[in-house]
Amino acid sequence: MLALRWGQEREKGGPILSQTLLQVQNLKKYFPVRGGILNRTRNLIKAVDDVTFSIAEGETLGLVGESGCGKSTAGRVVLRLLPATSGSVLFRGREILALEGEELRRARQGFQMIFQDPYASLDPRMTVREIVGEPLRAYGIRGASEREARVVEILDAVGLDASYLRRYPFEFSGGQRQRIGIARTLILRPSLIVADEPVSALDVSVQAQVINLLMEMRARFGLTYLFIAHDLSVVRHISDRVAVMYLGRIVETGRKDDFFERPLHPYAHALLASVPEPDPFRARTRFTLSGDVPSPLDPPRGCAFHPRCPKSTKDCEERIPALKEIDEGHSVACHLYV
Ligand code: SF4
Repeated sequence: MLALRWGQEREKGGPILSQTLLQVQNLKKYFPVRGGILNRTRNLIKAVDDVTFSIAEGETLGLVGESGCGKSTAGRVVLRLLPATSGSVLFRGREILALEGEELRRARQGFQMIFQDPYASLDPRMTVREIVGEPLRAYGIRGASEREARVVEILDAVGLDASYLRRYPFEFSGGQRQRIGIARTLILRPSLIVADEPVSALDVSVQAQVINLLMEMRARFGLTYLFIAHDLSVVRHISDRVAVMYLGRIVETGRKDDFFERPLHPYAHALLASVPEPDPFRARTRFTLSGDVPSPLDPPRGCAFHPRCPKSTKDCEERIPALKEIDEGHSVACHLYV
C-alpha cells in the first residue's frame, strides 16, 4: 500500500524520494443529534464527509477553511482522539482505525498532536519537568535520570532553558507555553504531527517564532505535519501542499505554489481575497465571502457552497461535484471544471 513518489524540494538537501506516511481514504465523522422521549437519533451532523488525502514522509499538508468546516474534527479522527464513522486511515501502511487497546497505545507514539490553546493544554498543577516527561513515564521509561536527560534535551531543542524544569505553566508567556507543548509532543519522537491551529491563540509578534520553530523541528527530526489553520499566510509559509475544506468535504487540493498562484475553486478565490496583499499594484480577485458557513445539520443540496457562490448555476443546486484532478497534483470539486 506504500506508494513511492517524488517529495517536495526542501531548502536544504534538494529533492527527496519520499513514501506516503499517511493515507486517509473516504473518512467520515457523523455526530448523531438525539431527541424525544426515547432519545433516538433524529439527525446527523456530517462534520467530516468522505474526505480523502495523503501526506508523504517529511511533507507538510496545510488543511484550511473557515471555522466550522470540519478540519479540526478531521485531525482528531485521524489521530483516533475521536472515533470515525467510517473510512480508512493508513499510517505507514497500517490501518489505525482497526487498532484497539495496547496496540493503539503503542502506535500512538508515532503520531501526536499540538493543540491550539497553550493555556488550556498544559496542566497548571504540573511542573515543566512533569508535563514534558509524563509521556516517557506513560510509555515505560522508568529511570528518572534518563527521563530528565531526555526532557532537558528536548527543552533545549525547542529553545527553553533547563532552569525552567521546576517552574509551572503560569510562569511563562503564551509563546513559551506553546514551546513546552511542542516539547511534550516531540519527546516520544513521533513521525506525524497534527498541529491544530498552533499559533492562532498567540500574539502576532510570537506567531512567526513558533512557526519557524516548527519548521526547524521538521528539518531536525524528519517530521511530517498535517497543519490545520484558517490563516492562509501562515499556511503559505510552512506548507508543501494545501487542501481546502468546506462543510466537511475537501473542495481543492494542490501543491502550494499552484494553489496560491492559480486557485481553482470559487471558495479558494474568496479565502485568498481575504488575505492582505503586500503589493498594491498586483491584480487580485475582489470576490469576498458573504454570510456564514451553512449549518452541517442542514447542508444545502448539491454543491454545499452554492448559496454563497457568485458562479452558481441550476446544476450546482442539484449535483454534488466530485473532486477531479485538473492539472498534475491539482484537484478541485466544482462543476465549472468538467
Ligand atoms: Fe460554485 Fe457551482 Fe462550483 Fe459550487 S459547483 S463552487 S456553486 S460554480
